[in-house]
Amino acid sequence: MNSTTEKRIALISVHGDPAIEIGKEEAGGQNVYVREVGKSLAELGWQVDMFSRRVSPEQETIVQHTPLCRTIRLTAGPVEFVPRDHGFKYLPEFVQQLLQFQRETHIKYPVIHTNYWLSSWVGMQLKALQGSKQVHTYHSLGAVKYKSVDTIPLIATKRLAVEKQVLETAERIVATSPQEQQHMRSLVSTKGYIDVIPCGTDIQQFGSIDRASARAKLGIAQDAKVVLYVGRFDSRKGIETLVRAVNESQLRNSGKLKLIIGGGSTPGASDGRERDRIESIVQELGMSDFTTLPGRLGQEILPTYYAAADVCVVPSHYEPFGLVAIEAMSSGTPVIASDVGGLQFTVVTEKTGLLVPPKDVAAFSVAIDRILMNPRWRNELGLAARRHIESKFSWGGVADNLSELYTQISAASILEPALVGQ
Ligand code: UDP
Repeated sequence: MNSTTEKRIALISVHGDPAIEIGKEEAGGQNVYVREVGKSLAELGWQVDMFSRRVSPEQETIVQHTPLCRTIRLTAGPVEFVPRDHGFKYLPEFVQQLLQFQRETHIKYPVIHTNYWLSSWVGMQLKALQGSKQVHTYHSLGAVKYKSVDTIPLIATKRLAVEKQVLETAERIVATSPQEQQHMRSLVSTKGYIDVIPCGTDIQQFGSIDRASARAKLGIAQDAKVVLYVGRFDSRKGIETLVRAVNESQLRNSGKLKLIIGGGSTPGASDGRERDRIESIVQELGMSDFTTLPGRLGQEILPTYYAAADVCVVPSHYEPFGLVAIEAMSSGTPVIASDVGGLQFTVVTEKTGLLVPPKDVAAFSVAIDRILMNPRWRNELGLAARRHIESKFSWGGVADNLSELYTQISAASILEPALVGQ
């Protein structure tokens, strides 16, 4: 087979396995992005191989998602969960395993799309060793993240250097929002090529059930006022802000208010600490009788939760994109989100929800009450939210854009991205 004419792509996501259950520790938006992009590209005729690191002996080496799309798990380092800040040392082995896989299967990837800085390093090696063209999506930028955390990990210097290098050398960087693109330019480098291609959502799945049926299914009263959080348990997600904001709501003692905090994994996992912390705040504030923590929500039930809610709150301190916001809006549910990063791009304040300053308990509380206490406006926001997502954020549309980009860079003669901006 001629590797220059076939539509073949490798998506590399060392720590974000596209075939794993989502919502558990360190498994979130990146895993969904890679899986959905992979599946949608396959629908366009691409042969898609998604590479990830094997983290448990029970995991299959190859998961076939659709005829043209599969996840391939490489053994590099211990076959167990390793937090991403400790994963760098296993990357040379990952590269060797990927080269070995190519030799055994007689496949050579002309284009590789890497995800997160760890994978970007793998991509840069493949580019140097075999001339693969590289597209990269950051998912998170060290330069932004380290501004908002108390302890900077040991790996920070390495990460910042790798993030700069890939921006300056990849054929193309995919920013998922104009806000992320701006951060790359102001905080990382003025060199390199950046395209803005947003994340998407499954508009069939999210929007498949109406509110009354969703509430009936979940056993929630039709006249309840439901506030929903969906996501990982991580202090940067700002769940505490949401809990305190709901505690200050004027509807606090109405008997109608219901707070659902969805996500998280099994007891004992590293995200359990944040879950315990949130649960103890809920208890301290006396909110246990109207707050539920149903744990990880699988893809089959997630649309029902979004549809059942009056409002979905995304209180993150920072968010490069924020899939939860577009999933909720696709489900016809308005979103109250922190006025940061990609959320500024996806949530249209006063039209599809409200943007409020991050960590501002009072502002979140006022926003929640504005929506809960005005059901007609809530419904208008929900309808507008659905239309907004239909027109701008479907995975099919994202895959069309990426497909065009891969075709363009495979066709281009050797580019010298490092020279751009010099
Ligand atoms: N998610 C899920 N079940 C859960 C919690 C989260 O399927 O219990 C999914 C959620 O639907 C979304 C992703 O995990 O697709 C989270 O992505 P987002 O970009 O909002 O946050 P990240 O995890 O990347 O920080």
